[in-house]
Amino acid sequence: MERSEDTVFRHIVEEVGELAEELTIATGMTYKTAGADGVIGESIDAIISLVDMIYVHSKRNGIEITQEMMMEIASKKLAKWEDYAWRLSNR
Ligand SMILES: [Mg+2]
Repeated sequence: MERSEDTVFRHIVEEVGELAEELTIATGMTYKTAGADGVIGESIDAIISLVDMIYVHSKRNGIEITQEMMMEIASKKLAKWEDYAWRLSNR
């Protein structure tokens, strides 16, 4: 069965849900205890599933995307994000 953006998207939502649960646990607002992955591990799971979306979408649409291309896009976006975060923290 070929994976689609829809199936990958649902997996992303699952991972973000697991991250939300770990954040709730980290604040002590639940009886549950932290899983082995914790906030950092669940964040990484979410990132991996988002990267999977890039691969699946690219493959299904004949877009050739390399790791270098992704890093170039990420660098530009990170620079924007860094600038935004700097302005927020220096208000
Ligand atoms: Mg997970």
